[in-house]
Amino acid sequence: MGGYDQLCILCGIAPSGGPSQLFTDPCDEADSLAAQIASKIILADPSQDYSSIFQIAQDALLETDETEWVPKGIRDWSGFQTCVAVGYFDNEDGAACLFPDDQGRDSLFPDGSKVQLRHVSDGSAGGFTSILSDTADANGQFKKACLTHCTSRDPKNPNFFVSEACYHYLEAWITASALPPQCSDVPYTPGLNFAGELYEIVNSRTEVRERLKGLLPCINYSGIEETCEQYQEDFQPSSQGFQHIASGIEEGLTGEDLLPHLIQDFQCWMFMRPDIWPSPPDSGAGSELPDFTHYHLGMDSKDVLFDNMSADVLLTIARDLPLPSYFALSATCKSLRRRLTGPVFLDCVLKKMMALGPLRWIMPIGTIAGETDRAFSIAKEWLKPAISDDQGSDTGSNSTVAKDDYAERHLFHSTDFPALAFLHACFASDSMRNRQRLWGIAKQFEVLWRDFRLHGWEVDRFRHSY
Ligand SMILES: [Zn+2]
Repeated sequence: MGGYDQLCILCGIAPSGGPSQLFTDPCDEADSLAAQIASKIILADPSQDYSSIFQIAQDALLETDETEWVPKGIRDWSGFQTCVAVGYFDNEDGAACLFPDDQGRDSLFPDGSKVQLRHVSDGSAGGFTSILSDTADANGQFKKACLTHCTSRDPKNPNFFVSEACYHYLEAWITASALPPQCSDVPYTPGLNFAGELYEIVNSRTEVRERLKGLLPCINYSGIEETCEQYQEDFQPSSQGFQHIASGIEEGLTGEDLLPHLIQDFQCWMFMRPDIWPSPPDSGAGSELPDFTHYHLGMDSKDVLFDNMSADVLLTIARDLPLPSYFALSATCKSLRRRLTGPVFLDCVLKKMMALGPLRWIMPIGTIAGETDRAFSIAKEWLKPAISDDQGSDTGSNSTVAKDDYAERHLFHSTDFPALAFLHACFASDSMRNRQRLWGIAKQFEVLWRDFRLHGWEVDRFRHSY
C-alpha cells in the first residue's frame, strides 16, 4: 500500500503517538551503534578498553528489546494522537476544491476567510479516516468514518494538521498582544481568525511544508523529524550524541541501569506527554535546591548600589528575563546577587515569570480538558508553610511585592507556593521538558505570525474571496 507517517507541524510527532522502540532490527543495529558509542568513548579516553566498552554498550542497547523500557507517558497520550485538521474538506476524499488560475489550471487555494477545522483521528498517510464528535451516535460511537486529506505529498493540497493538544497550546501561547494588529494595507485576507491566519501563514511561505514528513522547513524541530523514516517507529535516529551513555559507563553502570542514559541520549523525552506536573520530592530531598551565596555588606560599600532601587522597578526589569539571564544578572555584583537571590524576591519574580513571563509555559491551558484540574491538584501538594519571615528579612521592602493582586488568584501564585522548589522539579521532569520544547516551537510560530502581520504572504497562492 505504500503507507507512511506525516508529522504534526508543531511537535513533530505522528498521529501514531511516536516511536515505541529504539531500533527496528536490534541484532544488526545494536552492533553498529555499540561500535559508534565505544569509538566516541575511546576517542575521549584512549586508555579505556574498546572491546569491554563495546560489550557494555551492546548489552544495554539489546536490553531495550527485552524489557519495557519506554517511559510511561510516551505514545499513549490522546493529545498527540487526535488531531485538528485545518483547511477545506469539500471533496469526497476530504480534499480542498481548488480554483482556476490565469491559465485555467486548478492551482489556486481557497483563502483563509472560511477555513474549517475538523477533529480527526486514525491518521494514515498524512490523512485521517475518522471524524470525532463530542456526542455519541445511536451506536454509542464518538467518531464516524470520513476521509480528511492533509498530506503534503500532494502539492495541490493546502490542508494540514496539528495534534489536538498542540493546536490548543499554539492558540494559548501565541501572544496576540505582542503582535502588530492586522492591517488592511498588508497583503493577506482581511479579518482572519486564528485558524485562518495559521492556514495562510503555512500556505503562503516560499518554502512550503516539506513533502515527505509535512513539517515547515523554517522551524527548528530539534531533530525529532529524523525519527520519521517513512514511519515514525524508532527513537534511534534522533540521537544527538552519546554523552549520557558515556558518563553512565564511566560510573560503572551496565545493562538495565544504563537505560535512563539511553533515554536521554536518544531524546525519548520529546515524545512524553507534556502535562505531568511533578509532585514534591520525598521529604529530605529538598536539600538539593540551589544554595545561593549571600553576602553581608557594609553600608558604605559601593556594593550596595542596587539596594536602594525600588523592588517594583527591579521586579519589572527582572520578570521578563529568561531564567539563565536572570541568574547571570544576579552574578554581576554583590548587591544584585543579594537582591535577586533573596528568597522572598526570588519567589516573587519566579511567580511573575510563571504567570506572564518566560515561564508561562508551565501553567496549565484551560482549553485542554483536565489540564487545569491536574495542575491544581499538584499545586496543592506543593503548598506548605510559606518562606519564613526571617529567611526573607535581608530583602527588606521586597517582601511587600509578594502580596500583589494576583498572588491570590491562582494556587501557583499564592504566597505559600514554593516556586523555586517547584521549578527545580519541573526542570528535572521529562514531561515539563517536552512542554518547554513545545513552547519554544510555538514561539518560533509567533515569529512567523509577526512576519505575516507585517508583510503578509511571501507567495500569493490563493483565490481571493473578498
Ligand atoms: Zn503536535
